[in-house]
Amino acid sequence: MNIKNYINGSFHNPLNNEWINNFCPANGEVYGKTPNSSKEDVENAYIAAKSAFPIWSQTTLDERSRILIKISELLEANLDRFAEAESKDNGKPVSLAKSINIPRAASNFRFFGNAITQFASESHESVGQNAINYTLRQPIGVVGCISPWNLPLYLFTWKIAPALAAGNCVVAKPSEITPMTAYLLGEICNEAGLPKGVLNIVHGWGTTTGQAIVEHPDIKAISFTGGTVTGAHIARTAAPMFKKLSLELGGKNPNIIFANCDYKDMLETTVRSSFSNQGQICLCGSRIFVESTIYDKFKVDFVEKVKQLKVGHPSEHSTNIGALVSKPHLEKIMGYVEIAKNEGNKILCGGQKVTVKGFENGYYFEPTVIEAKTNDCKLNQEEIFGPIVTLMSFESEDEVLQMANDVKYGLSATLWTNDLKRTMRMSNQLQAGIVWVNTWMMRDLRTPFGGVKASGVGREGGFEALRFFTEAKNVCIKY
Ligand code: NAD
Repeated sequence: MNIKNYINGSFHNPLNNEWINNFCPANGEVYGKTPNSSKEDVENAYIAAKSAFPIWSQTTLDERSRILIKISELLEANLDRFAEAESKDNGKPVSLAKSINIPRAASNFRFFGNAITQFASESHESVGQNAINYTLRQPIGVVGCISPWNLPLYLFTWKIAPALAAGNCVVAKPSEITPMTAYLLGEICNEAGLPKGVLNIVHGWGTTTGQAIVEHPDIKAISFTGGTVTGAHIARTAAPMFKKLSLELGGKNPNIIFANCDYKDMLETTVRSSFSNQGQICLCGSRIFVESTIYDKFKVDFVEKVKQLKVGHPSEHSTNIGALVSKPHLEKIMGYVEIAKNEGNKILCGGQKVTVKGFENGYYFEPTVIEAKTNDCKLNQEEIFGPIVTLMSFESEDEVLQMANDVKYGLSATLWTNDLKRTMRMSNQLQAGIVWVNTWMMRDLRTPFGGVKASGVGREGGFEALRFFTEAKNVCIKY
């Protein structure tokens, strides 16, 4: 099935007639083509967005809210279709797409459809000067949204929904590796009555289509989620053009386990925080630090649980671990196992490609646990973004804080302890945008979301996202 660009409310082939193969990770076969859109397609998308902006930006909040909530309802009504499409495109278990990923995309539209009706700006009375200042929060105009392949529709809509709610028109590009559900979203937007041109979706390689969006002189803001190297490149391109930028980048997150935690809960959640979505979540806790007094017990219990995870075809209900997203990604993961061996680390379980009967060319890999010798090895410092975690033991709070923070990334951290004072001390000192204590990936969409250091710049979520997608203008009136 060939995917098309969604421009001005209708579907178009790329003008240059260039296409990218779309692979199904579960069997390694090409099952469709994606446009490799050129500058000209991006320009057409921009023109449609620009024409739609005067009306959309003046559409009442009630009406914008109604349309966004309608999109959310239609996504829910089409849950099975979207979940199956996302699983086929990405390799993730259908059960995961159905229970978490697509429902979250629907929540994104519902949440921002509601949030915009509650969004307020400040006023400041200049006492003694007979003046009042009020702040307008005006939409920026045409904005660009670029998203990665790991949570395709979830992250795509996490940007689009607040951008639209705030009154902007959008030129968006999903990952060329997983374009399918973004393509299907166009139909849903038409059905929901989103005026044409308000949202435009162009497909293609990052270096062609993505680059054309970032370089476009009149696309005034870029919201990007993806790798740190790409984020740095986008920042270099956009900064001299004075674009507003939000960058959500890579992570190498510590999962810190103290002996005085709720062990059973911690063990179950740690299996999830290590291997959900085949370990391809920027928030996965890929560096596990365990207090020395329970290290040996944890090692045995954790490895036993990980060995029980079933690697299999994404549509099988019993599958815990589906296929990795692409062949190059599988090869990268296998490369890290070699690095681990060369660095003298010990593979406790996994480390091998898996052959699933009937789907021999699929990109399957065992969930892998590696005991690391030092914190400064490549395995502990580089983002692997797959089903590989490392284990290390620690003696003291100071030691584990030092190791947890001693990496270039700072996205999230997880802490397992029942000691309140320690929780407060460590949460203050961990270099991360998000700290989870005795849980993982529990999300409240009102909270700020983002990273520090090489994990990004800016925050998404709640009113933070609405602030990003608006310009503040202060009006000072003397009376
Ligand atoms: P990527 O950087 O390769 O691609 C992300 C998107 O950027 C894709 O749509 C791609 O086509 C586009 N792109 C690539 N080059 C571009 C360019 N020069 N100009 C404009 N766009 C360009 O990332 P990926 O491999 O798709 O995703 C994995 C990465 O995303 C991991 O590092 C992961 O940690 C990160 N991620 C971060 C978060 C977060 O919230 N911080 C969430 C999910 C994923």
